Amino acid sequence: LIQLYMPLNILGFAYREIKQGLTDTEAMFTLLGEPQEVADAPEATPLVAGPGALAFEDVRFAYRPDRQILKGISFAVPPGRTLAIVGPTGAGKSTISRLLFRFYDTTGGRILVDGQPIERVTQHSLRAAIGVVPQDTVLFNDTIRYNIAYGRPGASEEEVVQAAKLAQVHDFVMRLPDGYRTMVGERGLKLSGGEKQRVAIARTILKDPRILILDEATSALDTRTEQEIQAALRQVSANRTTLVIAHRLSTVVEADEIIVLQDGRIAERGTHAVLIAADGLYAEMWRRQSEAVAMAEAAAAAQVAA
Ligand code: ADP
Repeated sequence: LIQLYMPLNILGFAYREIKQGLTDTEAMFTLLGEPQEVADAPEATPLVAGPGALAFEDVRFAYRPDRQILKGISFAVPPGRTLAIVGPTGAGKSTISRLLFRFYDTTGGRILVDGQPIERVTQHSLRAAIGVVPQDTVLFNDTIRYNIAYGRPGASEEEVVQAAKLAQVHDFVMRLPDGYRTMVGERGLKLSGGEKQRVAIARTILKDPRILILDEATSALDTRTEQEIQAALRQVSANRTTLVIAHRLSTVVEADEIIVLQDGRIAERGTHAVLIAADGLYAEMWRRQSEAVAMAEAAAAAQVAA
């Protein structure tokens, strides 16, 4: 068995934050008992449909008054483009995605979706426009079909299968004892992290949101799983405005813009090529990550030879 260990933790130093992992729906958010701190503004109106432009304007945020977490973050992601956020653990990467999903309100600055400040639109319409593929997907104790169709209740059998195919999870489902009727979750068949993530991707493909938040798993995956997940991620993020909390070299390299967060500020920004040429923080993280990958590959090769 070749278990190629890929150090997927971001460029050397991020770890899973199970406690703070994003869930992909309001329902699950409630299910997990996260604090509901944000209320709709009295005059809130539904988000007006648009192409999916996203902007942060000098966003500031603190969970507690004595500790500023984001100290003025600005970026704009044009419709269909991908922004990757990298940086050490605790830099505030997940906080950015939580603010976009409006789990909390900013303490300064604005977040705009298609030009509309998110605190002025209904949370329901905002969350309907955003899809989240979390690190750890919570599966319901129900059939695999239900778990995928959850992205769009009322989806037809055909649509579910189509989404599963795009998410590279259909073949896996067909090998299960009862196919799409197989019970999964805590009390059913337990799926691996990679399988669960592909279910989440299928769900998001069905939901068809204009904005996507992708919280890549940091856990080690074998090469085949890694490739399947990459293919699935490409499907779901194609032509969709994507914010990725990046732990994988490939997604970072392909992003239209990379921001390097450090201590609540953007320390560096640009494309991969620009940041490598700048030879700063990102270039240093990249070198370290590349060395780790090379070492892992050598170790895997040695295992094959043995
Ligand atoms: P990253 O995703 O870059 O690892 P986070 O956005 O999760 O960082 O966290 C940024 C900082 O905010 C960390 O220091 C973390 O401890 C703190 N933090 C995160 N969530 C909360 C919370 N609910 N209450 C208080 N502090 C928090």
